[in-house]
This record gives sequence, C-alpha cells and structure tokens, in this order.
Amino acid sequence: MHYRSKNIESDNRASVFDKIVDDLLNELYVFEKETLRFLYANKRACENAGYTFSELLQLTPLDIVPKNNISKFESLLLLLKNNEKEKVEFETVYRRENGSLYPVEVHIQLTEYQSKEAFVAVVLDLTEHKLNYQRLQENEQRLAAIFNNAVECIINIDSQGLITDLNPATEQAFGYSEKEIIGKSINMLMPTRLDEKHNEDPSHYLSTGGKTITGRDGEVFGLRKNGSSFPIELSVAEITTDKGCSFTWVIRDISERKQAEAEHRQHEEEKRQNQERFDRLSRVSAVGELAANIAHEINQPLTAVSTYATIADQLINNDQPDIQNLRSILGKINEQTKRASKVIHRLRSLINKHEVQREAVNINELIRHIIHISSQKAYSKNIEIKFFPIIPAPPIKCDYVNIQQVILNLINNAIDAMDTNDLSQREIIISVFQSSVNILTISVRDFGKGIAETDRKKIFSPFYTTKPDGMGVGLSISRSIMEAHSGALSLTSGITNGSEFTLTLPLSLDS
Ligand code: ADP
Repeated sequence: MHYRSKNIESDNRASVFDKIVDDLLNELYVFEKETLRFLYANKRACENAGYTFSELLQLTPLDIVPKNNISKFESLLLLLKNNEKEKVEFETVYRRENGSLYPVEVHIQLTEYQSKEAFVAVVLDLTEHKLNYQRLQENEQRLAAIFNNAVECIINIDSQGLITDLNPATEQAFGYSEKEIIGKSINMLMPTRLDEKHNEDPSHYLSTGGKTITGRDGEVFGLRKNGSSFPIELSVAEITTDKGCSFTWVIRDISERKQAEAEHRQHEEEKRQNQERFDRLSRVSAVGELAANIAHEINQPLTAVSTYATIADQLINNDQPDIQNLRSILGKINEQTKRASKVIHRLRSLINKHEVQREAVNINELIRHIIHISSQKAYSKNIEIKFFPIIPAPPIKCDYVNIQQVILNLINNAIDAMDTNDLSQREIIISVFQSSVNILTISVRDFGKGIAETDRKKIFSPFYTTKPDGMGVGLSISRSIMEAHSGALSLTSGITNGSEFTLTLPLSLDS
C-alpha cells in the first residue's frame, strides 16, 4: 500500500511546517490522549507501517503494538498522563499492516494538537541498527574466540606500557594469572637481561607498531614468573582511537624452533666432523694403497734382479765363466735396478704433483720396450707375445712410465693366467688401433683361464687377488692411471677362451 491519498487528504496538514514533518525520515505519530486514536501520521510512518493515512486514522497505537507489549505501552502512557514524566523512551516492536514486525525505539510526550491534548510519538526503525549490532556482536565473538584460543600470546597495553588485557595463552606461557599482571608494566614480561645486553628499554618496543621484532641480534626473550627466560618473536600493532593510542603485542614462543635450529646446527657439525674423520681415514688408506703400489711395482724388478744375480752366480762358478754372457746379465741387473729407481722417482713425483706428466710418446715404441722387459718371464713359461702395432703411430701425449706400468701389469697378469700346461694357444696378443676419430685403443688378449662373470667387477677393487703372492692393487692403480689420462681401462667381456683388457687414450690432436 502507498501513501496514496496525499493530495486529497493533506488539507489538514497544509502548512510548510507540516511538509517538513511529513518528509522526516523518522516515523511520527500523533494520537488522542484519551481514545488513543491516531490524529496524524507522517509519510514515513504510513509507508513503513503499510497503511494509508486514512486507514491509520481509524487505528490506535495498540493496533500496531503486539499484544504482549500493550500493557507496558499503556503503563508508560500513564506516566505521561499523570505528569510523572515529561517524556518516555522505550524499545518495542511494531506490526505492519501485512503482519510483519520491526524493532523500533519510541519517544513519546504529551503535546497539543488541534487544540486537544494528544501524544506525539517519534519512532526510529531499528531494523538496520539491530542488524549492525548483531554483526558487531558476531565479530566480537569471533575476535574473542581467536583471542581466547590463539596459540600466540596476545597482550593489550596502554600508552603507558601497562597491561590492559591478555589471553589464556599468555597466562600459560608466562605463568602469571590474569589478576597478577593486569595493570602492571609490560616490562615485567621482559628479562632485565635484555636491558643490560642491549642497553634497551623493553618499552621501546611500544612504538614499533606493525613490525615483527626479533631484537638486534635476532633474539628477544620473554621472562616467565619463575624467572626463566625463553626466546620469542614479537609483533606490535598500534591502535589509535579518540582516547589515545594503545598497543597489541602478539608473542610467539620460538623455543622449539630455536631448539630445532640448534639441533640442526649440531647435526651439521657432527656431519662435518664425520666427514673430516672419513677424509683422514681415506688419506691413511690412500697412503696404505700407495705403499702397496710401491711394493708391487718394485717387487717385479727386484725379482728380476734376484733371478739375474742367481744366474750370474752360477756363471761365475763355472770353470770358464762366459764373461760376455755375464756382462749381458749384469747389464740386465743394472737395467732392472734403474727401473725400480725410476718407479720410486715417478711415485714420488706423483705424490708431490698429484698430476700426470705428459710427453709426446710413440706408443709402438713404448709397447715394444715393455714386451722386451717381459720377454724373459714369458719365455720361461713358453708364452709368445705377439704385437700388432698401429702404423703410422698417431700422436699421443701420456706419462711414459705410468702407461708402461699399466701395460706391464696387464702382460704379467696375462702370463699368470696362462700358467697351466693344457692350453692350446700359449700366446698374448697386443694390438693397437684407432677405435674412433680421437681415441687410441690398446688391447691385451690372452688365452688363459679367463675371468668369471661374477669376478669381473671385483678385479678392479683394491686388494682383490686370487694369487697366493698377489697384492691385488695392480688393476685398481692401472685404472686410476688411465682415468688420470682421460682414458679408460676395461675388461672386454664375451671372451670364453681367455681374457681381453682394453686401454683407451685420447689422441693428442694439438701435436
Ligand atoms: P694381482 O695381480 O696382485 O692379483 P691385480 O689387480 O693386477 O692384482 O689383479 C687382480 C686379480 O684379477 C688377479 O688376482 C686375478 O684373479 C684377476 N686377473 C687379472 N688379470 C687377469 C687375466 N688376464 N686373466 C685372469 N684373471 C686375471
């Protein structure tokens, strides 16, 4: 329904003043003192209540107040009638024409209307206000829930640094009850140590609004009632209102995090110490390996020297010693001694320099030299060493003595592997070829007992040997030597009748 009779019915309210009253956003009602019949209602009242002006004139306020509010309403009017009060104010509920209710605040006083005593009621629709209030209350409840259930300590402080409010987490973390610290200075929750250490007044943190504070050296401490302190992270929010400014401190106990950090640091330190211990042990074992290597490499020329010396001794004991033969044997002894000394020299230089000494080498010559050294041993076992050189010899750069040691070790192993009588082929085949554009390959092939599939990885491990007098370091050292040359040493698989080892070396393209 609308305020539809405005033009026709407004004769009674034609004055300018009436117009202002009519346009008020508050509802305004005038009703007779005795009968309570409405004499006037402004536009807002008619619209909100849902009646036309003439409809309202047929009603009294008791028609728009719910039944259970009527007696209260009447008793309030009585106060005015009896002049006990000049004005009454109260909250109630109005019922619209369509039956819906809305909350209102009503101010009523006695007045004179058209020469009669009448009540005037100014009515405020509280619907919006109530909704806002409800929302506010819900927000407050939510905030209270956060405040009460937060894991962090939340403390409100006034501008003087006095505690005005705190949550249960604060009581728990600091060991004080609410009563004990409300109204006290926030300083009591900070250790004096902080002042001493940093020459800082904790209240300095009052003015650090909005920041998370972790102190100058990353540490701020909280002080418990029992005197113990604990590391905290502190955030301060500044709240400015008409009444002045206050602060909310949010404190997080970071003991556990600090503890975890300390444990992590300790763990890292232990790891470092273990690594150091391991490195030390590795160095010790490397020294051991080197000593074994020296023994292995020196043992071979020494054995040769001993063999030659025995032969020389036998020759001298002859009635007519073959001087020429003797001279040749002494020459060989001399050669083997030099070899031993060269090995020591090279090992020493290896230890000192930790890197290979490369020189331009003719690989064919290097291998021929080694075959010459090994020929005596091979011959004594009825083994022939066949050599297929690469022609022409490509340019390579390597450590001459190291590569010699590698090939010599392979030849010695091949001879050892053929130390049985029932072999159809008693030969070692050494061949050199270019396996790709820049790789030189040397193959050492024997027809001995071969190497079982399961042993193929083991043979390159240090100290793995199947020989009664073996040291088991030859192949592992040989592999390291090849790797130091950016080459490789591998056992070529697929050979049933004997073994084949291959060495690869990069070709020296710049020479
Ligand atoms: P060592 O010769 O002192 O045993 P190596 O490292 O040179 O040390 O060799 C390790 C082991 O590898 C040998 O004991 C042997 O069992 C095996 N091996 C090496 N070369 C051959 C080969 N050509 N044929 C069969 N077995 C071999």
